[in-house]
Amino acid sequence: MEVSWWTRALKVLPGGVDSPVRAFGGVGGEPIFIRRAKGPYLYADSGKEYVDYIGSWGPMILGHNPPEVIEALQEQLSRGLSFGMGTDIEVELAELILSKVPGMEKIRLVNSGTEATMSAVRVARGATGRNKIIKFRGCYHGHGDSFLIQAGSGALTHGAPSSLGVTPGVAEDTLIADYNHLEQVSALFAAHASEIAAVIVEPIAGNMGCVPPRPGFLEGLRKLCTENGTVLIFDEVMTGFRVSDGGAAKRFGIAPDMITFGKIVGGGMPLAAYAGKESLMRNVSPLGKVYQAGTLSGNPMAVTAGLAQLRTLYQLNPWQALEEKGMKLEAGLKRAAASVGCAVQINRVGAMFTIFFSDFPVNDTESAMASNTKCFAKFFHAMLDQGILFPPSQFETTFFGTQHSEEILTKTVAAAQIAFEKARA
Ligand SMILES: *Cc1c(COP(=O)(O)O)cnc(C)c1O
Repeated sequence: MEVSWWTRALKVLPGGVDSPVRAFGGVGGEPIFIRRAKGPYLYADSGKEYVDYIGSWGPMILGHNPPEVIEALQEQLSRGLSFGMGTDIEVELAELILSKVPGMEKIRLVNSGTEATMSAVRVARGATGRNKIIKFRGCYHGHGDSFLIQAGSGALTHGAPSSLGVTPGVAEDTLIADYNHLEQVSALFAAHASEIAAVIVEPIAGNMGCVPPRPGFLEGLRKLCTENGTVLIFDEVMTGFRVSDGGAAKRFGIAPDMITFGKIVGGGMPLAAYAGKESLMRNVSPLGKVYQAGTLSGNPMAVTAGLAQLRTLYQLNPWQALEEKGMKLEAGLKRAAASVGCAVQINRVGAMFTIFFSDFPVNDTESAMASNTKCFAKFFHAMLDQGILFPPSQFETTFFGTQHSEEILTKTVAAAQIAFEKARA
């Protein structure tokens, strides 16, 4: 008998994967292996077709293999993969992003969201001469040491709120508050005001499932940071170019001091970025004394993909249409759940949402964690059986994009009705 890829993977990759959530730990069963993708679909090595609601965890807002991106990459491929020197397209990408995102004056391209957030915090520390940061329970900012304290995403799914290998010294410099609980942030400032370099926040939390900010929460953070000379960092790795043409900062009309980007900005290639006001970014090497570098930073293939995807997005201007699709899908899913007596809470902003299996509104980590993960697992597998791939964890955000047609949404709602019935049982 042929040995499965999963069996082989388990022998050579820790947990069989290169990133934890892919292992299906939150839902059980054997993970699928993907061979190719097109538009809204993924195709497993078994040949089975899946409607994709993961979108590579965010980047594929135009669906898979948009012709504009593929053609640009093919052209770049013939010119070369990496030059180790500056390129015109890096400048074009930087100009484009800065022209769309409010308040940002300079930007540095890096390879992953993790690098972007680590670097942004280093800049904030370098610029302020302070050590501590505030982050929120259940927010995920990549796997940098400072952020693996009460982190979200895979860290929540696997019930390990922090990570081994993070030193007490690092943990001590990371102060924690609950998302959407401004009074806790005020208390931290009251106790540590002159020591806090940065507040880093997902302006819409996406890594404990989708949890939008309560009215006044982000405004309150902005005020506290301004009053205390603290750098406010919006981690828009997930929300950037998804929830509006200028991300969450533009959607909510709040100007942070720095913004981190990833996911959509790279069009499916490893590319991320951190941006900030001139007064902060002038500290970045070689201009200033905050060191940060990368052999493949601004890689021409990655920049080409990102630039092509962003240009296509700005041409299409799909955000209003995505919002309308989201409203329809949300309403359909709510109706489907109600019709079979399955209690769910659907949190959604634009083209990102989470179905929480809970009787109560979800607006922080505690309420998210109160969801019924057994019901979620049943729902997930019932959807998978019907050829629809949701993120394999209750605490991840579900994504859709321009390629999810009305027909696909209708099919999704019909499948969900069956899945809700199974989840409830
Ligand atoms: C995905 C994500 C990251 C980490 O990005 P990687 O590219 O996986 O390192 C950081 N912050 C947020 C908000 C994210 O969603």
